[in-house]
Amino acid sequence: MAYKYIDNYREKGARKKLVELLKTKGIEDAHVLNAIAKVPRHYFFDETFWNQAYKDIAFPIGEGQTISQPYTVAYQSELLHIRKGDKVLEIGTGCGYQTCILLELGAKVYTIERQEKLYQRTIKVLPHIGYKAEFFYGDGSKGLPKHAPFNKIIVTAGAPFVPEDLLKQLAIGGILVIPVGDEESQKMVTVLKTSENDFEKVTLDTFRFVPLVGDKAW
Ligand code: SAM
Repeated sequence: MAYKYIDNYREKGARKKLVELLKTKGIEDAHVLNAIAKVPRHYFFDETFWNQAYKDIAFPIGEGQTISQPYTVAYQSELLHIRKGDKVLEIGTGCGYQTCILLELGAKVYTIERQEKLYQRTIKVLPHIGYKAEFFYGDGSKGLPKHAPFNKIIVTAGAPFVPEDLLKQLAIGGILVIPVGDEESQKMVTVLKTSENDFEKVTLDTFRFVPLVGDKAW
């Protein structure tokens, strides 16, 4: 691979500063903060833009998509309450940064992406930088029924509603974290599955994601 992956004191120092910033913004989970401190976010940037990698901003990754803002990644990760060995479905692999955070948290990750170019790029990059996940290409709005149930499901694109299929594929006691709203802004929603037919839904803060495009979405 032509791209050079170098993680020096400069980048490690920048990650420490990012962690401190996330703490001031309300991220408290030490496991999540440790994961942010570990994953080299600059690996997901073209070398020209390395100086943008540790700013708390979303950034274009091609195909009209973005790498999520670190605060958003930390916020969603915290809400998932990942336990070691949790089977997690991620919808919207993108460049794979959130996937790496979930892996650092000890999850077994099934991740699905609908943009073929991003999928092709990420299935090469992640193993190359030491992160192993189960990658799928397709429409994640329908979930991955063959691999269900999942302990946790995270959607990293904005959905118009909570897809029924995802609720079905949650294990009892499982948590779904999904931004729900219109194309301009979404509220973060968590759904806890308390029994086969019972769910506890909580609506939280406002975010702005790229749209979840698919059969059971926009
Ligand atoms: N998780 C990424 C990260 O770590 O930065 C951010 C992902 S980006 C904000 C959202 C991704 O969701 C895009 O790559 C987009 O192509 C993908 N996406 C949108 N609709 C989808 C669908 N129905 N199934 C799978 N992926 C989808």
